[in-house]
Amino acid sequence: MVLAGGTGSAKLLRGLKGEAGEFTVISNVADNFWHHGLYIAPDVDIAVYTLAGLEDAVRGWGLRGDTFNSLGQLARMGEETWFNLGDRDLATHIFRTEQMGRGKRLGEITAMMCARLGVRQRVIPCTDDRLETYVTTRTGAMHLQEFWVKNRGEPEVEGVEYRGEEGAKPERGAIEALDAAERIVFCPANPVTSIMPMLAVGGIRESIVRSRARKVAVSPMVGGAPVTGPAGKLMRAIGLEPSSLAVSKLYRGLIDCMMVDPADAHYAEAMRAEGARAVVGSILMRTPADEVQLAREVLSA
Ligand code: GDP
Repeated sequence: MVLAGGTGSAKLLRGLKGEAGEFTVISNVADNFWHHGLYIAPDVDIAVYTLAGLEDAVRGWGLRGDTFNSLGQLARMGEETWFNLGDRDLATHIFRTEQMGRGKRLGEITAMMCARLGVRQRVIPCTDDRLETYVTTRTGAMHLQEFWVKNRGEPEVEGVEYRGEEGAKPERGAIEALDAAERIVFCPANPVTSIMPMLAVGGIRESIVRSRARKVAVSPMVGGAPVTGPAGKLMRAIGLEPSSLAVSKLYRGLIDCMMVDPADAHYAEAMRAEGARAVVGSILMRTPADEVQLAREVLSA
């Protein structure tokens, strides 16, 4: 059982796919948004594409070999094109939006996608309810995609909120999968925008706390900074340093151990005080071999 966000998580999922066979992924949905009349679910899609072997591993998003002619045409028609959508990738969003129009839940649609694309694992979006990460900046609140993609993560961030968190119910099967898990893996993911929103969904945090499973997290931080993405800025915005130690504080009570880079080995004692044993080793996934190696370590930690 794996909790997954976006790009960092996809690398570990690729490693786990070969090593663990069948497992369930609970996917973040708080960066989903509507664009050009279509419902886009970036973290769900990156998980499905990766498990289907269709992902563009170099970019870290989208489909391998995709083209961008539709986007070019949208630009020509004066439409916004700050969010990259490939021609084949668009089929996913058209399919999802069409099925939503027919009353299907995001979980059902994702299961259909998995079945049709030959994915052996189960991918469950954490909730079917509205749950969106908004970033508060000096000029007002904006959706995470607007902050990170449209504004390239440049605005100063004063806070982060998860809109809809009070009412968000877990998607069907999510709690059952957590309860049945022998191992719960927190992929390397942005703690603020990928993991915390999932933990805000009713019952998910509680299920993890009560679970007897082995609970293993992979730190997304190395030496006081995230490997990629805006996690550093967003951690600071919620009053935390972007360090593996701070991530272990956020996951307090939820994990048995956290895999950290040798650069963070000195946090081991402080992490133990947070209830997590530090497992020191290489956590950088630069090659497919790194992904497989880390997956093996995650499965034996
Ligand atoms: P993002 O912050 O918007 O990219 O959201 P994600 O949930 O996709 O987070 C990706 C996280 O994975 C980032 O915080 C990265 O620091 C982390 N990450 C990316 N590549 C690696 C890697 O090779 N190893 C580890 N340990 N973390 C990674």
